Amino acid sequence: MKVAIFSTKYYEREYLNNANAGGKHQLTFYDASLNEDSINLTIGHEAVCVLLSDKISKTVIDKLSANNIKLIDLRSAGFDNVDIEAAAKRNIKVMRVPAYSPQAIAEHAVSLILALDRKTYKAYNRVRENNFSLNNLMGFNLSGKTVGVVGTGKIGRAFSAIMLGFGCKVIAYDIKESDLLKEKGVEYKTFEELLQVSDIISIHCPLTADTRHLFNSFAFGKMKVGAMLINTSRGAVIQTSHAVEALKRAQLGYLGIDVYEGEENLFFKDLSGSIVQDDLIERLMSFNNVLITPHQAFFTKEAVEQIALTTIKNFTDFENGIPSVNEVKIEKTKLLQLSS
Ligand code: NAD
Repeated sequence: MKVAIFSTKYYEREYLNNANAGGKHQLTFYDASLNEDSINLTIGHEAVCVLLSDKISKTVIDKLSANNIKLIDLRSAGFDNVDIEAAAKRNIKVMRVPAYSPQAIAEHAVSLILALDRKTYKAYNRVRENNFSLNNLMGFNLSGKTVGVVGTGKIGRAFSAIMLGFGCKVIAYDIKESDLLKEKGVEYKTFEELLQVSDIISIHCPLTADTRHLFNSFAFGKMKVGAMLINTSRGAVIQTSHAVEALKRAQLGYLGIDVYEGEENLFFKDLSGSIVQDDLIERLMSFNNVLITPHQAFFTKEAVEQIALTTIKNFTDFENGIPSVNEVKIEKTKLLQLSS
């Protein structure tokens, strides 16, 4: 099958080519994202392969249909950037990679906790300038601390297992409880109870109408003074302007985020030669107890390899008419219609 692959980075191409060993599918790689301006690049292909940053609106879908595109395949779990209804109306199938490596994201959340706690990002810069002082580098033991997990799906469960290994007390909030976690000693609480007793909170729920701005001034007001908040889920689960206020009041003690509400204009881009227009992220970066990574939690060899393998399998299943659990059915859009 001929597939136009958009928004590709050099590191992905190697993995996609390896997964397509034998050249079963004809892959055309584009750096460009898929939008109304780049639509002509799809001519002569049967499928497009995109990322969350490619905004696949109704207009784009109508034009894809006119170019005889039959499949939109996402190299991500999320699909909130695709107008699923419009695709269904045009008889274009949408597929995705629902799971690749929960451990990759869970381990990144833990790395944010450790770096913020033990201030390794400060020590790295300091030592390079021959400053070997310990001033302001004091951390705290994780063992014995209470860690609150919001969302105990695949990633939340992997994260909980790691924190239990550190000797933490792990508590959780989810609309659906996991028996597996309960057997491991994790206690489920209400959201408010979790806020009140956690020393560290890590967010692992999806972005939905219910979770958008779940962490707002009300939630920050309920949290322990000086607690740590980690978000590797979706940026808009935190109301960023309220987080800034909580940091200014020292109510929030530490913030580690791999996702950000306005990330589509920033992340995955080298803006080092530009003037960044996003005042909110600039304010966040000015706090020395805030650590931001550019949506890299998924970015391990194992996860990128798995994404490539599933992506190529999706092309093959589609071509052979094999029903796939990776197909996004229209009902699922109710879950994730909000952009991150
Ligand atoms: P999952 O579907 O396995 O688990 C999500 C959990 O959240 C489920 O247990 C669900 O019941 C729970 N949930 C849903 N609504 C909730 C609510 N209102 N309150 C509390 N809990 C709720 O998903 P997953 O694979 O564990 O992924 C979790 C999230 O991580 C994804 O939605 C995505 O946003 C994010 N993610 C981030 C990266 C990254 O690189 N930073 C990569 C992959 C996924």
